Amino acid sequence: MKMMFESERIDLAKTVKKMFDRKDTNVAGGNMSIKVFDQDGHPYILITPSFMSETYYSELHPAQILVIDGLSLEKIDGVGTVTREINMHEQAYKAHPDIRCVYHSHAPESMFWATIGQDMPNVTEVTRELGRIRCLPFAPACTKKLADTVYDGLKKLGDKAVENVFLLNSHGILVTASELHIAVRIMETLEWNAKIAYQQTIFIKLGLLNDYQSCGQNYKEPLPNGTIPPIALPECNKINIPQKFHKNLTRPNFEI
Ligand SMILES: [Zn+2]
Repeated sequence: MKMMFESERIDLAKTVKKMFDRKDTNVAGGNMSIKVFDQDGHPYILITPSFMSETYYSELHPAQILVIDGLSLEKIDGVGTVTREINMHEQAYKAHPDIRCVYHSHAPESMFWATIGQDMPNVTEVTRELGRIRCLPFAPACTKKLADTVYDGLKKLGDKAVENVFLLNSHGILVTASELHIAVRIMETLEWNAKIAYQQTIFIKLGLLNDYQSCGQNYKEPLPNGTIPPIALPECNKINIPQKFHKNLTRPNFEI
């Protein structure tokens, strides 16, 4: 017998293991979820279980991907317990109807910027589309305060919430995206950007650079329209990609 959302759960289990092995999160935690719909349009959240990293090292059977009813928020299928951080996922999905993936990780290079409580300078071409890489005010892990902080932060972004990353102060990273594989791309390119920005900081301190550089100019100078291509859809078996994908995401000026 087929499991509910079998192909999506297989894909999520495979992806989470790959990301763990690539050190895009650590053994202390992290979790991934996607939002899917049945034929009647009823929403569900598919999410990795509690202790995904600590106990299972992200080696999950697809049956361990939990199915949560998107309206009642009850677990209706899957082996394992629901992570306490699910409140953050729920609030993120609530913030914008087109968010279809929430990826929370403890990736090492980005954690540096998260722990100093500062925005990460956005310097690489591939991450420029993310705009400002904002560090949210501190709120303890798993609390309602953290979930509400994420919700408030996403609400301010308008449609950009569908393609965004927040640094969670002293804790980790939260990517929101329209699709699982886009979230993965955002997470890993963010890690490269974190390391490169740190290296640029050293050059600035050495007096070899005046300020952070990106795309041939100071990283704070806006780029002419059309310079940076939008984040591309991956060439995969387009599981869970919404029918109407946002073409030209607009973002508030303070986010650029
Ligand atoms: Zn966490």
